Amino acid sequence: GSDGDGEVGKAQRAAAGVGTEPTIFSRIIDRSVPATILYEDDECLVFRDVAPQAPVHFLVIPKRPIPRLSRVGPQDAQLLGHLMVVAARTAQAEGLSDGYRLVINDGKHGAQSVYHLHLHVLGGRQMNWPPG
Ligand code: C5P
Repeated sequence: GSDGDGEVGKAQRAAAGVGTEPTIFSRIIDRSVPATILYEDDECLVFRDVAPQAPVHFLVIPKRPIPRLSRVGPQDAQLLGHLMVVAARTAQAEGLSDGYRLVINDGKHGAQSVYHLHLHVLGGRQMNWPPG
């Protein structure tokens, strides 16, 4: 095919820096670092943030280690959509019926600290705007 495990896919992953720097999240995925896991499927993992910034704060991550949002391409669209659907479903399961905040930090100005793409879901209190 034109993507997946073919040469184009390999080049796309190499260009994205995927697999060059495993992070702590790879170790949560393989269970060598403990986390409170809320949901898992073939594509993603959901776990509570170890330093919660709200009464409910969990992360949705792809199992495939995309480093950051600015490195995604059209081949990632379905996966990114899936992460958002899972975020919404888990928020509902966590009782966030009054709403919540979805955050993706990218790079230095975004204050990203773990270079494995993740969606933050924060809820259980009133959020402010603009964010800091
Ligand atoms: O978006 P950013 O990269 O700054 O967020 C990384 C998040 O990962 C932080 O909220 C941090 O608390 C969380 N984390 C975690 N478990 C770890 C390491 C980091 O929940 N073992």
